[in-house]
Amino acid sequence: MPVRVAIVGGGFSGTLLAINLLRHGARVVLIERDGARLARGMAYGTRDPAHLLNVRASNMGAFPDDPGHFLRWLGLGPGLGADKGDQANLFVPRLTYGAYLHDLLAAAGREASGQLRIVKGEAIAMERRAGGLSLRLDDGRVVESDALVLATGNAAPADIPLFSDLSSQVVARNPWVGDSGNAREVLLVGTGLTAVDWILSLDRAGFAGRITAISRRGLVPRAHALVGPNVAPVFQPEARGSHLLRHVRRRSEAVGWRHAVDELRPHTQRLWRAHDAAAQARFLRHLRPWWDVHRHRLAPEVAQRIAQLQAEGRLECLAGSLISAHPDGDAALVIWRGRHAQAQESRRFDRIILCTGPQADITRDPQPLLGQLLANGLARPDAHRLGLDVDHQCHLRNTLGQRQSGLFAIGPMTKGEAWEIVAVPDIRRQVWDLARFLTDSHWVGGEGL
Ligand SMILES: Cc1cc2nc3c(=O)[nH]c(=O)nc-3n(C[C@H](O)[C@H](O)[C@H](O)COP(=O)(O)OP(=O)(O)OC[C@H]3O[C@@H](n4cnc5c(N)ncnc54)[C@H](O)[C@@H]3O)c2cc1C
Repeated sequence: MPVRVAIVGGGFSGTLLAINLLRHGARVVLIERDGARLARGMAYGTRDPAHLLNVRASNMGAFPDDPGHFLRWLGLGPGLGADKGDQANLFVPRLTYGAYLHDLLAAAGREASGQLRIVKGEAIAMERRAGGLSLRLDDGRVVESDALVLATGNAAPADIPLFSDLSSQVVARNPWVGDSGNAREVLLVGTGLTAVDWILSLDRAGFAGRITAISRRGLVPRAHALVGPNVAPVFQPEARGSHLLRHVRRRSEAVGWRHAVDELRPHTQRLWRAHDAAAQARFLRHLRPWWDVHRHRLAPEVAQRIAQLQAEGRLECLAGSLISAHPDGDAALVIWRGRHAQAQESRRFDRIILCTGPQADITRDPQPLLGQLLANGLARPDAHRLGLDVDHQCHLRNTLGQRQSGLFAIGPMTKGEAWEIVAVPDIRRQVWDLARFLTDSHWVGGEGL
């Protein structure tokens, strides 16, 4: 009997795991609560063509043994389409990538006839039964399986208590739904990739007002180089902790910061695991904001547009802390203090959008399924509250730290174990490995015995 796997969440991670499992003959039920997100998820479900991939198309293939697969799907690649230089540096709209994933899932479903079931609904509870797992959906349906994989992705940002008096007409608490209405003065809380998405969408919609973006350090993601990465493989750096930091600084001076960061990419997960929880916590406290803006970059054309809007005075990116926010007619009066400044500043905003990044602490207002797993002690948060505590094979760990057979999590929720598990190149490897583990596949086409 082929293994039966239920996957909760049909975004990038869940979809790609399903495709890999089908290739290995598993029977898969893919459960997604939002039909528009199926095979797209949050990142690739955007409808705005201004939202570009932040990884070059040449490295966005769905399979680790074929990074150029997406480029070929686009009709490009060696011997096809544009010249080689252009292709290497192409950043295409994220919605195009969503169409690619959709296509791959449909093809995998056709090829593995009868093996894939797509279910629209929200998974809300799970129990172990003799012979397997039983997953309950919000409409009462039940899905039986041998293994359950959580691929529930990024949760909406945590609410900011400062904004509790403000109505939802003024504050968009979930930045991935909603719009700016007729606002003239928009405040983006956060200056990372979500804020950049909003800036691009407002710009494309012809927004004529002023955008203010604020974060503690005011750090905006850096740009990719115009010409593609050309990083020679390096051995894993021996250094740890502050020695590792000095190593990266030295390399940065020698070869440039982009190259120095890119060199670490193949080793980041191992380096993270090689540090104990205290050292990891120090990294998160002191270096994370810097790492994030250098590691997760903008397409050059996006960075150019952001710089242009700043130069025109239509976008202001501030470093500072919010102090208060009060209703003021149909808007809000917000007071903040600039970083290292004594004086306070204030401005009236008619729309505020929380771009502070996904809520990682799963114990804070978890969705029903996660809440139930936590309440029953079958899952626990990782040491840094970046997501779920999992082992190297993606097994959930219970409150006692014991691995839970048959229960798994993948994608950004497993950051505590791997740290670097957000972008496509990392998740495609994770789901490739998990699919082989779940199907006990020791032989894969092209690999030999
Ligand atoms: C805005 C943005 C842009 C990005 N751009 C890039 C990029 O250009 N290149 C790159 O390499 N990486 C990029 N990433 C990173 C990356 O690819 C994502 O983090 C990845 O898409 C994660 O996918 P996921 O499926 O784990 O989560 P999600 O995309 O969040 O999908 C989770 C899905 O689970 C569903 N779900 C949740 N709970 C339940 C439930 N109980 N029952 C049923 N369904 C449920 C949700 O509806 C959702 O569709 C980006 C990320 C973001 C957020």
